[in-house]
Amino acid sequence: MKTIALVAHDGKKQALLRWVTTHKDFFADKQLVATGTTGKLVAEALQQPVQCLASGPLGGDQQIGAMIAEQKIDWLVFFWDPLSSQPHDPDVKALIRLAVVWNIPVACNQATADFIVHSSLYQQDYQREVPDFSVYQQRLDKQ
Ligand code: PGA
Repeated sequence: MKTIALVAHDGKKQALLRWVTTHKDFFADKQLVATGTTGKLVAEALQQPVQCLASGPLGGDQQIGAMIAEQKIDWLVFFWDPLSSQPHDPDVKALIRLAVVWNIPVACNQATADFIVHSSLYQQDYQREVPDFSVYQQRLDKQ
């Protein structure tokens, strides 16, 4: 079963809730994990269990980043707010970075999220390439 991580900044929470509600059926057979407040709201909106981590500013983004590094997340939906600064800006950047490092699909806005939901690759149980960092690790081990 695919695991989708959901995060929305306060200014984007209503947009995320509208979007998940529109795609309610899509989420029915997915495992959902989210930062604290986002998760609570999504669970109410979808009437579906969501694993709620800490709130973003208290470390929730970092927890999702750790799950990405542990290969536990298949897709990140991160509606970050480009019009307001966040107390946890470094965590926001770190989360997006880890999604790129581990080659998982990331949707930072509704249009991209729509494209992924409707992607035939998603329906075909697409196996993403997991980067092989063994050479990098060996170099570190030698230092
Ligand atoms: P929240 O955190 O879901 O607890 O509001 C999201 C964030 O600000 O990163």
